[in-house]
Amino acid sequence: MTRWDAETAVVGLGAWGASALWRLASRGVDVIGFERFAPGHALGSSHGHARVLRLACPQHPGLVPLAQRSRELWSEMEDTGQERLLVVCGALTVGTENGPLAGGALRAARAHGVRVRTFSASALRFQYPRHTGVPHRHIGVYEPSAALIRPERAVRTAVALAEEAGARVLADCRVTRVEPVPGGVRLYTAQRPVRVRQVVLTAGAWLTGFLPELPLETVRRPLAWFRPYEPDSGFGPEEFPAFARELEDGRVLWGNGAEGGDGVELGLDDAGVAAKPVDPEDTDRSVTSQDWSEPARILPVRLPGLRPRPTRVALSTRTRTPDGRFLLGRPGGDARLVVAGGENGYGFALAPAIGEALADVVRGDAPATGLGFLSPDRFR
Ligand SMILES: Cc1cc2nc3c(=O)[nH]c(=O)nc-3n(C[C@H](O)[C@H](O)[C@H](O)COP(=O)(O)OP(=O)(O)OC[C@H]3O[C@@H](n4cnc5c(N)ncnc54)[C@H](O)[C@@H]3O)c2cc1C
Repeated sequence: MTRWDAETAVVGLGAWGASALWRLASRGVDVIGFERFAPGHALGSSHGHARVLRLACPQHPGLVPLAQRSRELWSEMEDTGQERLLVVCGALTVGTENGPLAGGALRAARAHGVRVRTFSASALRFQYPRHTGVPHRHIGVYEPSAALIRPERAVRTAVALAEEAGARVLADCRVTRVEPVPGGVRLYTAQRPVRVRQVVLTAGAWLTGFLPELPLETVRRPLAWFRPYEPDSGFGPEEFPAFARELEDGRVLWGNGAEGGDGVELGLDDAGVAAKPVDPEDTDRSVTSQDWSEPARILPVRLPGLRPRPTRVALSTRTRTPDGRFLLGRPGGDARLVVAGGENGYGFALAPAIGEALADVVRGDAPATGLGFLSPDRFR
């Protein structure tokens, strides 16, 4: 008879895997987590200064229940782990009323009763004067309860809570192969193979190393910090909340108010060469001027109070699917395998609820929210 080393393994302890580990262990599942680096590292997607938590998720109204549940679980994590993880700062979304960004946020808010305030372009210019060049046909959607999350601290807290609840964690331990065997899965590492009944793959950009058929693409995601010309000039988080702003050419400029000496954190999605596909195994995170020159170029007309030369530039990766929605579920209905990944810029905030949904799938419980729209089989 096969002896199993654990009921379930989680491979990859970024935001999603760490949360899955926590939610599985807290339900009494015998679970073991593998992380190829140290939890809270800076080589995946779950690191940096801050991640924004919005309830009115523009990407899909079906995500709002996940965001709402996550909000509760983030607070629980803060209380139990006794670490400050959330800073309420509000968030602004700007774009056309029927478009994907501001329009999406508005539709999500209306569908789920999330409290938001809307602004016409002229009201926006008055309320948030640091944003210039907003076209007349754009609106602003402000969500006062949106918060910033401290990502590395949050990942480490989730892992610590999972361990307290009984999970075993193998850090600096890369899983090199996942082999389905009758009734379970064998995982290979530099040490002896580990046999489990089910595996949850939350390996972020590295997922395709296990499941090459998944239609995932990893791209570089540069971030740059720009200091204001004048100190105290309205770029602090109170006057200049976290924002995502659609530009006329469809790209999205996003950022967070200045919290430290580095200035305002800014990113520009789909910014030409900076967003070129990369091999996730190439962990070179060096940056070039191409990574920040495009956001810097548009600053004088969009956020003219900021100096166009960044004080700091950092690189991370993001992984995307063809339809922009991430994957969560059992590929091909395999009872030994659960996968979650391919998220594009809003998944950190949802991590605790995703961890809970993964625990539901592992245990065969019905998830609290309908997640069929995230099925990994939709591209087959
Ligand atoms: C610059 C940037 C800004 C963002 N802003 C926001 C935001 O404001 N709000 C928001 O909600 N979301 C945001 N996101 C998205 C969010 O950060 C991601 O959706 C989330 O971090 C994804 O987490 P993950 O656990 O899937 O991936 P990762 O964090 O990459 O975790 C995958 C883990 O798997 C491990 N791993 C891989 N292969 C193996 C292996 N073979 N063996 C063992 N371990 C392995 C990796 O080391 C890694 O730790 C942003 C992302 C980026 C990059």
